[in-house]
Formats: sequence, C-alpha cells, structure tokens
Amino acid sequence: MVKYISNTGGGDPVDFETAILDGFAEDGGLYVPESLPKITNEHLSKWKDLDYVSLAFEILSLFIDRTVISETDLKKILQTAYGSFEKKEIIPLHPLKSRKDTYIMELFHGPTLSFKDVGQAFLVNLVNFFLQRKNKHLTLVVATTGDTGPAAAFFAAGKSNLDTWVLYPKGLITEEQERQMTTLQQANIHPVSVSNCPDGADDLDAVIGKLYANIPFKRKLNLSSVNSINWGRVMMQTVHYFYGYLQVVDVVGEHINVSVPSGAFGNLCAGTLAREMGLPVKYYIAGNNINSCLHRIFSEGRFTKKELYETASSAIDILIPLNFWRFLFFKANKDPIKIKQWIDTFNKTGSVKFDNETFESYKKGILSNSATDKEVLSIINEIYKNEGYLLDPHTAVSVQAADVLKESIGNEKLICLATAHPSKFPEVIKNALNTNILPDEAVHKSIEKAKKHCEKKYTCDYTNLEEALSHAMETNWDLNKGK
Ligand SMILES: *Cc1c(COP(=O)(O)O)cnc(C)c1O
Repeated sequence: MVKYISNTGGGDPVDFETAILDGFAEDGGLYVPESLPKITNEHLSKWKDLDYVSLAFEILSLFIDRTVISETDLKKILQTAYGSFEKKEIIPLHPLKSRKDTYIMELFHGPTLSFKDVGQAFLVNLVNFFLQRKNKHLTLVVATTGDTGPAAAFFAAGKSNLDTWVLYPKGLITEEQERQMTTLQQANIHPVSVSNCPDGADDLDAVIGKLYANIPFKRKLNLSSVNSINWGRVMMQTVHYFYGYLQVVDVVGEHINVSVPSGAFGNLCAGTLAREMGLPVKYYIAGNNINSCLHRIFSEGRFTKKELYETASSAIDILIPLNFWRFLFFKANKDPIKIKQWIDTFNKTGSVKFDNETFESYKKGILSNSATDKEVLSIINEIYKNEGYLLDPHTAVSVQAADVLKESIGNEKLICLATAHPSKFPEVIKNALNTNILPDEAVHKSIEKAKKHCEKKYTCDYTNLEEALSHAMETNWDLNKGK
C-alpha cells in the first residue's frame, strides 16, 4: 500500500485516507506519495477508447488500494461526482481553426463553470464518503481567487457531515463568482467576504494556516481543507492529461505539448506527475499573467514574491504557487530537508535562488510565459472574430503562451487547457470585444439564475479576520454540535 509523506519531512507516513482528510501534513508540509505508479504504452493503448469516468476509475485505482475503497464504492463516488456535469464527455475537446493541430480542452462544464469542479467534484465526494463511513463531522476552510470557493461550496452543500467556510477577497473576484457562493441557501455553507486584503487570496491562505496552527481549535472543529494543496485534487487532476492525450493522438506513444494557465500550480503539478508516471508529453507550458512568480521560477531559477497586480485573469492572481514545492520534491531527489530549507529561506526573505543543478533538473520539459492584459484581450478578440469561439481570460493566457513559444515547442499536437466559462468574466469579455452587449457564448443559465436569488454571507475586515472568523466558526459549531 502506498504511504503518504510530508514533502518537508516531518511526521510519520500516513495512509491515503488520512492524507485526504488532513489536507496539510502535520508539519505544515504537503503530502506526496512515497512512490508514483508507472504506466506504459500498453496501458495507454488499452485505455484509448474509455470515457472520462471509466478512465478516471483506471487511473485512480493505481493510487487507491481496494482495501481502502472498494471497486463498487469508487465507481459510485465517480458517478456521483461527474453526474452534475453538463456535457456527456465531461471535458470535451474543441479544435481551433486558426492554429494547426491545436485543441482547447474544456474543463469548465461542471456546475460552477470552472476547472475547479473537476478536482472538487471528486475530492468533496470522497471526503464525504470517508466521513460517513467513520460517522464523523469535518469543518472545511478554503480561500479562493474566485473558482475554488464556488466549486467547494457547490459539492459540499447539503452534505450533513461537512461544514464549509469559503473566504474570498472582496472586490478581487467577479460578482458572478461571488453569487455562485452566496446564493447557496444550504445551512452548512458559510461564505466570508473579506475586505482590505493587500495580497489577495494569498492573505487568506495565511490566516487559514494560523487557524490550523491553533491545535486545540483545529481539534475541536476537526478542521481540514480542500484547497489546491489537498493531494486528492492533484491526483484527480492527473486524469484530464491522460484523457486529453488519448483523445488527440493518432498513435499511442507520440508526444504532445500542453499549455496550462497557472496560479497555484496545482493543475500543472498534476500534469508533471502524469508525465512522471509515463505520459508522453514533450513540453508543458506554464502560462502566467503579470503576476509571474512561476515564469520567474522557470526562466530565472528564482522563486520571488512580488506585489499583487489585479488582472483580467483574476483567478490566477497568485503570488505564491504553493504546489511548486510539491512538484520540486520529485525533481530534487525527493529530499525533504532541501525542500524545507528552501521554504524556510523563502519565508524569511521572500526569495529563493535555486542552485544550477536544481534549476536544470526542474525546468526540463517546462517552458513559461507571462501575458499582459492587453495580449489576453487581443487574443480573445482575434479568436472570436476569426472563428466564433469565445475564450475566457484564463484560457486566453494559455493560448497566448503557446503562441509566443511556438518556435520552441515544435510541431507536435498542442492542447491548451480551458479553465473557465466566459460567463464568469462578463466585464473582461465586453472589454475584449469592444461591446456593451454580451454575446450568447458569454451567457450561462446558471449564472443568470444566481442573479435572482438572495445572498447570504459574513463580512469581515482583514485586520481582525483571524479572531472574527474563529469566533464565528466556533459559535456555529457550538450551536450545531448536537447534529
Ligand atoms: C484555479 C484556476 C487556474 C489555475 O490553476 P492552478 O492549479 O491554481 O494553477 C486557472 N484558471 C482558472 C479559471 C482557475 O480558476
């Protein structure tokens, strides 16, 4: 049975269930599997015609022991999770006409219209399955740049073993994203609008870290998280790389390139693990906006925190791509001592310069780019005008990056990940298309429906968030303890 260890070396190895339910490792590190399953071209050939859910079953079965979840239960969890998606393919691929051998992988057909649904659908249902089996209750806390929150809230809504607190930086997410959280009426969902966050959602993550560090509080409320550091999300997100690969290749074994709009690096970390497992990907592209921490990491060998810029692709306005440390663990000889030293240096000084050997090792097969809003808007406009296909601003970041790096990546087939439906970003779309009237492609019925419902939320200021939030959480817990 595969054990999970902290990428910073603290604590004892734990089993899969503990890694999922704890979120963070005991020493504050990220859980990584002691070893990754390997797949061959024979696996890939066998899987070639599977639908998304059947493929997910095959891949997850490499990670999850049958004694932990039976075959029947795993199938049931997957069917429940993806039953709420609006397309039968779950994540369809759309070929672009204006670019040769280029496919947009639409990861936004889940109930809250972003790629976060893909991971959360499975993770929240998995957590719920474990809790029901143990007859336990858990309090989830997540911070969001706009998409994780709605997805976590949607899948947790009405599940009696879960209370879910979703923190978002007021004014830094769109009204559409906010209403996806605040119009859920189920009593176990608690959206918290936080004003005056100087560093956006990164600030909220820091406060969640402090709540975790308060051990009596953490124990009393059974705190956990389904944010992008939870292993369950990363593991689930490996599946769409396999799925996309099998959809576009003519011959199993041929290499492809994949471009990923990146913030916390959870999505792309999963991609690199899929490659580590044996998926033939030549280059991954990390697409940043001008909050370009990842671009600095991959082009300069430097992990540096800078000030936050508000951009058109707000869901990737992230200063600290936490999952990079998980990825680096696999690239730095699985040496937790080194990872811990780098993280400590970063926490002390706000910057780490990696040695040459490490830099060479982790950047192999990964290119990066940083797109300005002007470039993002112009690509949305171009593709809509030319072929009537509307990109959301994050998807535009991935297409833009691939355009810029075209020469370096070569002529292999290219998949650009589409991570949100344009209806979540109507103002950006209007801007990009120079119009006040949204085209049909930027309207979605679920977004329209949310406009008609009442909102329910807490409001807090960042300056006293830790105290106010722990008070609200504890009061809610005490009131409902009998459940
Ligand atoms: C979260 C998100 C991303 C970035 O994913 P990471 O795993 O944080 O890198 C990209 N686009 C959209 C729309 C998102 O919501």
